[in-house]
Amino acid sequence: MTKANPTPAYQGSMLMIVAPSGAGKSSLVDALLQADAGLTLSLSTTTRSPRSGEVDGKNYRFVSKEEFLREKEQGHFLEWAEVHGHFYGTSKPWIESQMQAGSDVVLEIDWQGAQQIRKLIPSAQWIFIFPPSIEALEERLRKRGQDDEATIARRLAAAHVELLHAHEADYIVVNDSFDQALVDLKHILAASRLRSGPAMARNPALLRRLGV
Ligand code: GDP
Ligand code: ADP
Ligand code: 5GP
Repeated sequence: MTKANPTPAYQGSMLMIVAPSGAGKSSLVDALLQADAGLTLSLSTTTRSPRSGEVDGKNYRFVSKEEFLREKEQGHFLEWAEVHGHFYGTSKPWIESQMQAGSDVVLEIDWQGAQQIRKLIPSAQWIFIFPPSIEALEERLRKRGQDDEATIARRLAAAHVELLHAHEADYIVVNDSFDQALVDLKHILAASRLRSGPAMARNPALLRRLGV
């Protein structure tokens, strides 16, 4: 008899959070990680300089361009992209080890990275965060107080391109009220854990008892 429900390779949930700079990705992801001990953040590698308060190994792995290109040649990245003039990449060995362990992971990546990951890991859920308006986006970038005027201008100009990819996402969350956006993200995480592939893979004994 053929097995009707082959066990999927990856039992965990993967959430890809994409948004224009300043929409609130990092704040929302931080709050989601605090609220859910079962979720881990993919630590990206970047060639941009740390902002004040950013810690190497916590927010990003900060490396030189030479080191990034060396790691890229060695096949270290599952995906990589050039965003706002810097390189960013997702560690392949780290993601593979999380997938083998069936862990739930969240990635803060740009749309180019999300397109690449979706091809490799079709179960990954793409969530796009909308700011309530372009004016709010600009205000948040300024209020964050971490970027100079030229950087803010570059990020606002890039926002339009990023927003044009929103229709490729599985979910849209509007970050107007922060608390509501966080509730929406919690619901998406809960739903992604109930998707049939991961849910079946997590319950082999029940499937056997039910004869499916
Ligand atoms: P933010 O947009 O203000 O959060 O600024 P960041 O400098 O933290 O991120 C810049 C861009 O790079 C954002 O679009 C991120 O989503 C994206 N990014 C961060 N890490 C990665 C990664 O590992 N891979 C890819 N493809 N993009 C990333
Ligand atoms: P991103 O990671 O998308 O660039 P951040 O998480 O750094 O965005 O948020 C940008 C700024 O906007 C931060 O100063 C953050 O505190 C603020 N912010 C985030 N969400 C909201 C919200 N719903 N209302 C008002 N300000 C917000
Ligand atoms: P920031 O420099 O403001 O931290 O991030 C700028 C952009 O780079 C954001 O849109 C962020 O999502 C993206 N980014 C951060 N890490 C990665 C990554 O590992 N891969 C990709 N593709 N984009 C990333």
